[in-house]
Formats: sequence, C-alpha cells, structure tokens
Amino acid sequence: MNLRQKRDLRRLTRQIIQIIFFLWMPALYTSAFSGVRYVIEQIRAGKPIEQNAFLVMLIALCGFTILFGRFFCGYACAFGTLGDGMYALSQWIQKKVKKKLPWVSEETGRKLQKMKYIVLLVLMLIYVLGFTKKFHGTSPWEVFSMLYTGKIPDAAYLAGWIIFVLILVGMCFKERFFCQYLCPMGAIFAWLPTLPFSVLDRDRSNCIPKCRACEIKCPVDYQIKRDQKNGGECIHCMQCVDVCPKQNIHLGSGKKLKGNEIFIILLKLVLFIGVCIFAQSL
Ligand code: SF4
Ligand code: SF4
Ligand code: SF4
Repeated sequence: MNLRQKRDLRRLTRQIIQIIFFLWMPALYTSAFSGVRYVIEQIRAGKPIEQNAFLVMLIALCGFTILFGRFFCGYACAFGTLGDGMYALSQWIQKKVKKKLPWVSEETGRKLQKMKYIVLLVLMLIYVLGFTKKFHGTSPWEVFSMLYTGKIPDAAYLAGWIIFVLILVGMCFKERFFCQYLCPMGAIFAWLPTLPFSVLDRDRSNCIPKCRACEIKCPVDYQIKRDQKNGGECIHCMQCVDVCPKQNIHLGSGKKLKGNEIFIILLKLVLFIGVCIFAQSL
C-alpha cells in the first residue's frame, strides 16, 4: 500500500467511526454539558453533588481527553460530525459552482476562537443566576436533539431554531465553525491539560523551508509547537500528520509514533467505547 492509499484508508476509517458514533451515541455531547450545568445548579442550590449519568459522562470525557487528547472531538462528537458533514457538502457545492465562500484570515480566526470562552461564561452565569427557565427554547442543542429523534421543535423553540440554522450556515463557511468559535464544551476541553505522550510535536527545524502544508490542512487553524503542555485547540483529527511530506509530526517527543497509525486510532476507539459503556452502566 503506498502513502496515498494509507492516507485514504485512514480518512475512511475516521469517517466510518464518526458515522457510527453519530448513529450510536449522538447524545454524548449534550450529556457531558448537562453535567456542567448540574454541578453549577447544585452548588447554587447548596445541595450535594451526587453521582448521575450526566456527571459521570462529563468526568469520563474529560478524563479521556486528559489521557489521549481530544479524540472525542475528532472522532465521536455528533455535533462535530454534523459540522464536518455540512462543510463537506458546502465544499462539494462550491466546487460544482466554481465559487468559493469567503472567510476571515487564519490570524483573525484564531482570535475568534476566544468567543467560545465567552459563550461558556455566559451559560455558566445563566446557571449561577438561576435564569435557566427564562432561556427555555434558546438551546440549539435541544433543537438538534429533537430533530434527531424525529420531533419538530414547536414555536417555543424559535430562538433555538434561529441559532441552530445560523450555526449550520457557519458550518458551511468554515470547517469546524461551531467547535472553534462557539462550543462551550470545546472551551472546557481546550483548557484541559493533555498528557505529554498524547500531544503532537513538530520539529520545525526539520521542516521543508516555507512549508505550511500541515497548518493549511488543519481544520482548526492550529499551529503545533514543540514542548507544549497541552493540545488546546487540536482535535486530534491527524490530518496534519497525514499531509506532512516529511513525516515530521509525531505523537509525544519520542518520534517513534506519528499518531495517525491505524492501530493507535483503533486502540483509542476501543478504549473510548469501553469508557462510554462503563460510564453509561454506572
Ligand atoms: S468542540 Fe464541541 S461540538 Fe466540536 S467536537 Fe468538541 S465537543 Fe463536539
Ligand atoms: S490537523 Fe493536526 S493540529 Fe490540526 S486539529 Fe488535526 S491533529 Fe490537531
Ligand atoms: S507539513 Fe511537515 S514539513 Fe511542512 S511545515 Fe508541516 S511539519 Fe513541516
């Protein structure tokens, strides 16, 4: 198998995994964020934080992210997969009509990524102040969840509908639009530390002069640095590793593993499924 065939196989493997999780566990994202809401509301009410499905899922996803990076975001989140699907459809249409949708520069895009921390802060304030009921019907995730289960959200969800449609439009303009700029769960994941052996490492001194292939390919405009403490915005999609002509990006600093090997992806997949099934059984 030549390099191109290997890359195609890896891309297909990722797409299959994404589709499986989209169909099998579409609620992981909403469960985890409900865990955040539960913790804040319990603290606000002065009640004890007890074990429940949302809290367990939140801990499971955060724990997995600390151990193995944002595998969940790259492979298993239904909202992330929805974004990839919308972007792929938009790219296909743009090619057909030979027109390219505009977007901001990478630098501006990286600044816009801070918006998701504001979204997280606003949501936390809503929970802390007990305004949750006042904002009923504004959640785009609830709209998505209802549509997924075949229910059409009624007029009470008008605001949620509008936000959801705007997000879908954004997904057509920029790859991982919601993940990069708006996702409150993504804001939490980006702040979590990742263990060194799961962080990507790029030896810039060994790069082809002026090459930026990996950065151009990255769906979240991430620039891999050496000796970084956490993976931050990196969603571990491994597209940068696939595209590097010098095979110059590695997992950890050992240079033995690149991170895009099929066996590593499948190993993470098995572990992730195990963690999810265990968390759901508690
Ligand atoms: S950033 Fe948010 S929406 Fe995107 S994949 Fe991660 S959890 Fe899902
Ligand atoms: S392309 Fe590379 S740096 Fe960018 S998100 Fe994917 S794995 Fe991370
Ligand atoms: S694609 Fe490879 S050679 Fe090019 S900048 Fe990235 S790591 Fe360096």
